[in-house]
Amino acid sequence: MNFLFSNMERVVVSVVVPAYNEIAVLDICHQRLRGVMEGIGLAYELLYVDDGSSDGCGEALVALASQDSHVRVIRLSRNFGKEAAITAGLDHARGEAVILIDADLQDPPELIPDMLAAWRSTGADVIAMRRRHRSGESWFKRSCAHLFYRILNRLSEFPIPQDTGDFRLLSRRVVDSINRLPERSRYMKGLFAWVGFPTHEILYDREPRAAGRSKWGFFGLLRLALEGVTSFSAAPLRWVTGLGLVTAVSGAVFGLWIVVKTLQGYPAPSGYPSSIAMMTFLGGIQLFSVGLLGEYVGRIYLETKQRPRYLVRDIDESTGEPSSRME
Ligand code: UDP
Ligand code: MG
Repeated sequence: MNFLFSNMERVVVSVVVPAYNEIAVLDICHQRLRGVMEGIGLAYELLYVDDGSSDGCGEALVALASQDSHVRVIRLSRNFGKEAAITAGLDHARGEAVILIDADLQDPPELIPDMLAAWRSTGADVIAMRRRHRSGESWFKRSCAHLFYRILNRLSEFPIPQDTGDFRLLSRRVVDSINRLPERSRYMKGLFAWVGFPTHEILYDREPRAAGRSKWGFFGLLRLALEGVTSFSAAPLRWVTGLGLVTAVSGAVFGLWIVVKTLQGYPAPSGYPSSIAMMTFLGGIQLFSVGLLGEYVGRIYLETKQRPRYLVRDIDESTGEPSSRME
């Protein structure tokens, strides 16, 4: 495959690795990434983003950077979440192609040569890795994910593909486009889909986590899902308006019907249980609608504050001075 890269000496490939409390897999992850990148023979950098780890992962990364001139480490000032960590990585990546990969080796680094080859041969700006299987994930998580993507795609004006995660290659112009997007809430999968550009997909088998624990609990995923929906569609607001309209009209028709019946001489219907059922149902719908509205208002509130998406504690690169403070 090397002939494909023969005219690419100056091209730098950045591999962006977000890491939060990944001390258990860090060494093996680095060994494998290094092995793969050395084998390709292109100028590269391994850009680790330490997302405020508390297990010594950050210090271990700094030590790596002092030993290996290909390693750069960005340490965030606290845990900002994976989306922010990726944003930081994309902001600081210098490569012509930027590869996003998880630290836990669920995305096999050995596929990177294929991604680069596909990038060269197809000319696509995005090489998205689509999961063939999701081994190591529970049935519950898989069905929730499936349902979520169905809903999201019904709502969104552009398709957001299921089963392609953050594992992907982005060309420089895609990275620049994403970096230019001003919004604070970064639902990455949605942003990738939104920027578009020619995309080529490669199927792969996602492996179970090499070690350590997944950082996403049920509520974490639920939050991410809500963020995905509310960042990319206002359709739920329209649905709720529609729902309100339908209930109001049926209420009016029902009331009218009772009045007509009473005028015709039927005894006024007694209906304590049905009134209670009606009231709790409508009350529930109202609270739900207000809550939904609140989601959007909250999103607006967070965006208007214009806070940075992450703060950098220090950047370590073995070529430059050991720790330069930024931002
Ligand atoms: N991650 C991060 N910040 C967080 C949570 C996760 O940078 O707050 C990183 C984590 O270190 C890993 C990647 O995001 O490299 C994927 O996380 P995880 O494996 O926990 O997610 P899953 O694969 O279970 O979806
Ligand atoms: Mg994982």
